[in-house]
Amino acid sequence: SFVITGATGQLGRLVVTELLDRGVPADRIVAGGRNLDRITDLAALGVTTTRFDYDDPASMDAALSEGDTLLLISSDAVGTRVAQHRAVIGSAVRAGVSRLLYTSVLSAEGSPLVLAADHVETEQLIRDSGLPFTLLRNGWYTENYAPALQQAAATGEVLTSAGEGRVASATRADYAAATAGALVGQGHENKVYELSGDYAWDFDELALAFSTLLGREVVHRGVTPEEHLAALLDAGVDEQTAGFLVALDAGTRAGALALTTGDLSRLAGRPSTALLDGLRPLLG
Ligand code: NDP
Repeated sequence: SFVITGATGQLGRLVVTELLDRGVPADRIVAGGRNLDRITDLAALGVTTTRFDYDDPASMDAALSEGDTLLLISSDAVGTRVAQHRAVIGSAVRAGVSRLLYTSVLSAEGSPLVLAADHVETEQLIRDSGLPFTLLRNGWYTENYAPALQQAAATGEVLTSAGEGRVASATRADYAAATAGALVGQGHENKVYELSGDYAWDFDELALAFSTLLGREVVHRGVTPEEHLAALLDAGVDEQTAGFLVALDAGTRAGALALTTGDLSRLAGRPSTALLDGLRPLLG
């Protein structure tokens, strides 16, 4: 079977529906997570839904069988998730899965992003496990800019300290299509893919796209990290989130999200979704 963790989340759900669209029989798909009430619709299609809790190895041992292809979608518990991933890998080894796929981060070991450390550690644990693997290093989701779009609608500005940094974003559906390609396709053993959109845009282009969608003038206002932090705190953003956002822009400025290799569109079998088309559904 294809066992998909995080299937109760946004990316995992899309991977399951991509597999179904590609003709994988529902009874060969196991969708895992904790909040299974979120995927009763998938169960109704014949997909097996099962509790798969990264903090409960017994749940994972019960969900996995020898020969399964396992997709580990990274936990959202940033900072403490390496222990969770280690537990998943342990279960995968005990079960004897035929391949482990993991959603890492773009350029993992070279990435200046703070959140990359967890992924680098997890990649190493996977290599050390001896299991055949496929590393799917994910760039940024276009959907991450929904709050920026809302803010632009209110202020006419995109405020960043990302400078001239570029972002090769793609939609979750694009990442899911590439992931499904890597799950069902041949020849992906022990490969590392850098998944990102086909085109890396800059924040002037993001502002222009917002302007087109909103029908009002939107400009990119680039500020220093210090000014950015102050503006976020002024706007009532809590200190931790503000610090995260400024650090993210520093990483973006340094090119952390800009890599374009074409791996995503090759695995997906189609181009990635253009920025404007990826943003349009976020208008609500
Ligand atoms: P979601 O928040 O929609 O989904 C997260 C999934 O992780 C849920 O299915 C949740 O399942 C599962 N999960 C969390 N903790 C556990 C646990 N202890 N045991 C089992 N499952 C768990 O995130 P997305 O689908 O949007 O993104 C997928 C992952 O990608 C995120 O978890 C994060 O690591 C990363 N990410 C990437 C971004 C990018 O731009 N590339 C942006 C944001 C996140 P449940 O709650 O049912 O257990």
